[in-house]
Amino acid sequence: MSLDLNARLRSLPPVDRVLASLEGLAPQALIAQAARMAVDLARAEVKRGSSAPSLEEVVDRARALLDERGKKDLQPVINATGVLIHTNLGRVPLGQRQLDAIYGIAKSYSNLEYDLTAGRRGSRYSHASDLISALTGAEAALVVNNNAAAVLLTLAALATDLEVVISRGELIEIGGEFRMPDVMSMSGTRLVEVGTTNRTHLADYERAITTSTGALLKVHPSNYKVTGFTAEVPLRELVKLARGRGVPLVFDAGSGYVEVQEAASWAAEEPPVAEALAQGVDVITFSGDKLLGGPQAGIIAGRSDLLRLIAKHPLVRALRVDKMTLAGLEATLRAHLEGKVQDLPLWSLALTAADELRSRAERVAEQVASDALKAEAIPTVSVAGGGSLPGEELASWGIALTHAEKSVDEMQKLLRFSTPPVIGRIEDERLLLDLRSVFVEDLDTLIANVGALD
Ligand SMILES: *Cc1c(COP(=O)(O)O)cnc(C)c1O
Repeated sequence: MSLDLNARLRSLPPVDRVLASLEGLAPQALIAQAARMAVDLARAEVKRGSSAPSLEEVVDRARALLDERGKKDLQPVINATGVLIHTNLGRVPLGQRQLDAIYGIAKSYSNLEYDLTAGRRGSRYSHASDLISALTGAEAALVVNNNAAAVLLTLAALATDLEVVISRGELIEIGGEFRMPDVMSMSGTRLVEVGTTNRTHLADYERAITTSTGALLKVHPSNYKVTGFTAEVPLRELVKLARGRGVPLVFDAGSGYVEVQEAASWAAEEPPVAEALAQGVDVITFSGDKLLGGPQAGIIAGRSDLLRLIAKHPLVRALRVDKMTLAGLEATLRAHLEGKVQDLPLWSLALTAADELRSRAERVAEQVASDALKAEAIPTVSVAGGGSLPGEELASWGIALTHAEKSVDEMQKLLRFSTPPVIGRIEDERLLLDLRSVFVEDLDTLIANVGALD
């Protein structure tokens, strides 16, 4: 090591001086982390031949690291992507009614596993189950952590060491590179794939059923659509086949469309849960935080004898839901039962009239526009997202932004760094803020943050 390098290393600001300059900005342990990291970075630069940075420079770097750390904290964002069920942005927001229910149960002791009528130990699964049955017509129901868990548990309980027959057109990846077939395999069943990517016929299923078959599995292809020369076997025919051969038919419906909304024509092709059960599906699984509009959960509903088997499986304990989830889910189910889907943010956003969005977009455009920032209210289309309704679009309005000096990428980054962050999408080389997924209460904040781009 040269003398010169030694001298430069010695002139690096010591960690505790950097620390002292950041005092009070964040919890001590986080400041210490940032200070150490900033000095380490400076040391690495010196070793590569740079001169030692000043105390101020290292402090600035540490402050930037603290800022970056802060952006990792969970925080609210304004979703102007137009994707209503946005898994990366937390799936669906919860409303006052759901939050009140969660708050009431979370802050107190509760009858979570206590039967008030009998005065003895009860089941945490009894609470939401009756409501699910009332809403879907299922004989029995069980709630677990999410829909992937619901599928895993169902197959583990009904078909461990047995075969599960599934169409090759329904082997889906659900995001974050998680593949449902891998989840299914973890249940200890053997997947028997039948048909081809685009066409599967009843005879394919018929041929695959043997004495080793534990279940037939149908999966709603939730985040893509195969178009063109396609064939899938309708539920009704699979029901007939399953009954005839004495194997249960499990349907992973994904989105959880429990109640047909006449005004939501975009949802017309979603399989309603009650209808699938009425057609004779033995067990259906779906998410709590897709079209149901509730907290993250996986719902298993169907035949009571099969649900008893499922509820007894040891995995239930590993996949169990928290009381806050159950409280939020109950409030969600009650809103559906009362026909008050407007109480659920997802549905109040989804059912807002396009004309209303138009006048909001015009107001926003007018208020944010400046000499440099061009803002135009334009009609656009949103999607339900989150693995629901592939290809179905909702009419919407948004604000298309361009800037005289800033690129679209720059604008997007500035909005991502605003408080709260605003997330839009790029379309035709403009930054588009789609109002379908923006709460009316957030419009003033949106206007302020977008206006600051000027
Ligand atoms: C979304 C989805 C899943 C996964 O559900 P999670 O609740 O996210 O675990 C599984 N299957 C289908 C068909 C889906 O649409």
